[in-house]
Amino acid sequence: MKNIRIQFIFLYALALLSGACAVPSARLDNSITSPTPAEEETAVLDDPSVLETTPDTPPEQPPQKEKIVRVLLAENLPEAFIKHSGRINIYTLDGKKKYKISQAGTVAVKGLSDGQIQVGTLKDNQPILIEPVQSSLTWNNNSYTGTFYVLPSSGGQLMLVEYVSLEEYLHGVLPYEMSPSWPVEALKAQAVAARTYTLKSLENVKNKSFDLYSDVRSQVYRGNGKKYDAVTRAVDETKGQVLTYQGKLFFTYYHANCGGATDDVSSWHFSTKSIKPLSGASCKFDSHSKSHNWNMTVPLSKVEKYAQSVGLKGTLKSIRIVRKTNTGRATNLTLTTSKGSKTVPCGAFRLATGIRSCKITRIITSTKGVQFTGKGYGHGIGMCQDGANGMAKRNHNYKQILKHYYPGSVLEQIH
Ligand SMILES: [Zn+2]
Repeated sequence: MKNIRIQFIFLYALALLSGACAVPSARLDNSITSPTPAEEETAVLDDPSVLETTPDTPPEQPPQKEKIVRVLLAENLPEAFIKHSGRINIYTLDGKKKYKISQAGTVAVKGLSDGQIQVGTLKDNQPILIEPVQSSLTWNNNSYTGTFYVLPSSGGQLMLVEYVSLEEYLHGVLPYEMSPSWPVEALKAQAVAARTYTLKSLENVKNKSFDLYSDVRSQVYRGNGKKYDAVTRAVDETKGQVLTYQGKLFFTYYHANCGGATDDVSSWHFSTKSIKPLSGASCKFDSHSKSHNWNMTVPLSKVEKYAQSVGLKGTLKSIRIVRKTNTGRATNLTLTTSKGSKTVPCGAFRLATGIRSCKITRIITSTKGVQFTGKGYGHGIGMCQDGANGMAKRNHNYKQILKHYYPGSVLEQIH
């Protein structure tokens, strides 16, 4: 009996290892040392085929660890002062030097000329961590619940990166990407879009020190210290939900206002292949916003500066739309100056000059500047946020909103 028992333990362990790699070792140990009576019964069969059988009670799935994202808060800082609301632990990455501060206070952090960094009383040339323990860290008037990694950067300066769970990160993104006063169903649609966008971005991280910027290069993030009930609900009630297309995440682009219809992603990112969820949708829900129709004047000097940056010198004479999508969004503009002409992508021109969108309906060039009239705000791809707001106000739920702006996508639960 003893031999059989040992054999069972060995084979059962093998079965667990081969069939459930996600089971952590602690769970394995418990299963082996304390088999249930039912498991002992199976063992005495002494038949290798039983190993193929799924146990009546499958091993309990451990809670999945939350995805951690690394957000760059600042780079090339000479020094910083980090407030903490309670206890913090400070330690080097290898854990060899450490100390704790039990009370609220402020820790000074600075880069040293010899390439080391100093955090409080610790000095080292490897990252130093500041871990809040049931407290939060405040830097630059924003508060954070993740752990700060202070890293040395070039020229005796430092870099500040927060390691924070994906869900906590989203609590600090949502209020800056959509107004917290909007209906919760619109905020839930935004939460799913932001979660999907974040996870898709993580698939192709080239930087070893951080995954995401805290500004528009990724998504605007200012810590999760400011709490808004609707935002909290929106993130928590969609926890772990993402959009996929053909089983894969995709970049769930979003923008402020589409001006009546969104466009195909390939019209904006010329090298990006179109997929159904990013192929465009009509939008009857965004006309309440002041971004729906706009006009603005851009100084000649600003346009001429952009023209020079693409190799066209001279005084601006005219701007002409030479190609547009079937929703009326310009894809290419031709700039003409006293020295010649150049055709440029409208997306780049928009970012350089600050015009609201490329859905331009009129351009008047005069000595005072260039007057643009147009519709919408932003690139016009994916979800129209004003439209999401409009749909939510008409009692559409977040699933309907996402389906409308990302047609053909599937809502999936990933954790
Ligand atoms: Zn719209």
